[in-house]
Amino acid sequence: MLLPRYKNRNRLIVMVCQECHHEYLGHPISKYCPKHREIKNRKPKKKIKQKEMNRIVKTNAFDVIERAFKCGLRGCKNIFLIKIYPRQTLYPKFCPEHRTEYRRKYFLEQRKQNGKKRKRRRKHGKSHRH
Ligand SMILES: [Zn+2]
Ligand SMILES: [Zn+2]
Repeated sequence: MLLPRYKNRNRLIVMVCQECHHEYLGHPISKYCPKHREIKNRKPKKKIKQKEMNRIVKTNAFDVIERAFKCGLRGCKNIFLIKIYPRQTLYPKFCPEHRTEYRRKYFLEQRKQNGKKRKRRRKHGKSHRH
């Protein structure tokens, strides 16, 4: 599929806002009128609850202790150490590899694909990695 080419990318044309369906002058690639573009931009992507992102650890210890935790991501068996501080209760839920949402999504995506591959019988003998 070929994307349409614009001779002049900065040319403004009459567009229809996907939000309010009003006409506005904008770039051919824009989707919303200036007003809605602003609102869309300002909206936070997705609020992730603290609970989902963190684990709550309470300790009676007076000193900093180190504890091993399993990564909270399904399918990840990484064990990582967290320092537990007496007055802090929120700690990361995921191993250092999966601290970012992007990494977790990628991991789950890879896992899905591997699962599919395993189900399918190998037709072509040796499979090459890399
Ligand atoms: Zn609009
Ligand atoms: Zn992990």
